[in-house]
Amino acid sequence: MAAGALPDIGTEYGPCTDAGCGHRDCAQGRIDLERLCAHCGEAIALRLFYKIPETGDWVHATCEEAAVNPDTAPHR
Ligand SMILES: [Zn+2]
Ligand SMILES: [Zn+2]
Repeated sequence: MAAGALPDIGTEYGPCTDAGCGHRDCAQGRIDLERLCAHCGEAIALRLFYKIPETGDWVHATCEEAAVNPDTAPHR
């Protein structure tokens, strides 16, 4: 399972800086940036994340790794 990261607003692959641009891809990009991590409840935003195929949940890579390997996770 490879972690991904979302493109930021205003970058080449990210949503336009104009929030009212009306592009479908931009609207989806903004929604994705505001999705919440199923572990910590904070926005995925620009952090590395995984999509969990079984549940459809989005989780930060660090949160998922901490959940899977609580003994080896840093900062937890
Ligand atoms: Zn746009
Ligand atoms: Zn998290």
